[in-house]
Amino acid sequence: MSMLKKQRLCILGATGSIGVSTLDVVARHPDRYEIFALTAHSQIEKLAEQCSRFFPQIAVVGSAEAADVLSLLLRERKLSQVQVLHGAEALCQVASANECDSVMAAIVGAAGLPPSLAAARAGKKVLLANKEALVMSGALFMDAIRSSGASILPIDSEHNAIFQCLPAAYDGQPQSHGIRRILLTASGGPFLHREISTLSAVTPEEAIAHPNWVMGRKISIDSATMMNKGLEVIEAHWLFAMPPEHIEVLIHPQSVIHSMVSYNDGSVLAQLGNPDMRTPIAYGLAYPERIDSGVAPLDLIKVAKLNFEEPDFKRFPCLSLAYQALNAGQSAPTILNASNEVAVQAFLDGEIGFRMIDQIIARTLDAFSSSPVDSLEAILAADAEARSIARSVIAS
Ligand code: NAD
Ligand code: MG
Repeated sequence: MSMLKKQRLCILGATGSIGVSTLDVVARHPDRYEIFALTAHSQIEKLAEQCSRFFPQIAVVGSAEAADVLSLLLRERKLSQVQVLHGAEALCQVASANECDSVMAAIVGAAGLPPSLAAARAGKKVLLANKEALVMSGALFMDAIRSSGASILPIDSEHNAIFQCLPAAYDGQPQSHGIRRILLTASGGPFLHREISTLSAVTPEEAIAHPNWVMGRKISIDSATMMNKGLEVIEAHWLFAMPPEHIEVLIHPQSVIHSMVSYNDGSVLAQLGNPDMRTPIAYGLAYPERIDSGVAPLDLIKVAKLNFEEPDFKRFPCLSLAYQALNAGQSAPTILNASNEVAVQAFLDGEIGFRMIDQIIARTLDAFSSSPVDSLEAILAADAEARSIARSVIAS
């Protein structure tokens, strides 16, 4: 073990739910990993604390003011050797730096696209949690991975499970590997069985209270609308070159099976585990090895039951909207993602009710005819336009 060359990591979004879980796994293996860079948007105290435990070369924050605060906190902690940078360009710089081997892409939302893509273009090992980045830029992102010789390891638990259940030599051709379908499991979130007529009155706190997972606010709301599963259908399409009609969503309220692959011979392979993101994170970090993640072994006697049901597309219109955007292709997934981010933020800010989220997305999608998006600039332009339309829908 001591012969191992340490992997140098950049963690984009270090202060978030995935970032913190990643550092928890890293701390268990000081012989394997060292931190090159940590980034955070506004939780500066938390970032300073992380710097004093993991000694990054560089720390990146959102603004010049935040950088001043961080520098001060680092001086107090006698950590002036940590270089402090700020802004979107600095995120791309650390994600593509020569000193870095692997990038954990764990920023939430569209803000994560430029640095995640920079890591892909620079040939890094990309640990992808930031699903919105891939949803926005599908073909462009996967092309960047292929042409730079980068690798992509899915961190989203479902995609990590599918990755584990696919043949090792899987080359993006489901037919030639005898793959019938991907079964993407979904807990159904906090409103799986709630009376539909009461949904318009739910509060952000009720929507964030996920039955099985503790996550950031945005993905928690996406889980309540099931847009999270919709984004994951699109994510699976790009990661595994899987046609939309081969991706099936299955409600599984216990979140013990993280997803499955169904083969032509009748076999179904599943990956199981306690719902704790440190398992897929550890798998991504050490792949193809398996290391301790701190997650307790699964107690199947205690789990006792695994239930399944069909998703209800009427209860969860966001799921249909995501399939619709995937089938429309081109800029449609970018527009879906942008309008969802705007609608979720408006819901969290108390501007709109829960049931307005899907209506805003549907109306934004309707306002566009899908157009080709073959550069980062074109994607960011479609994203910006969709945001402004979604905001005007909210205002009307
Ligand atoms: P979070 O809200 O807990 O953390 C988000 C991180 O992104 C923070 O470190 C924050 O500082 C940073 N950030 C936010 N806005 C930024 C901006 N404009 N510029 C730069 N940095 C910014 O979110 P999370 O739950 O950790 O999720 C992160 C990503 O991982 C999301 O894309 C989410 O869909 C995905 N994901 C999360 C989970 C989970 O269990 N939390 C599971 C699967 C996938
Ligand atoms: Mg997931």
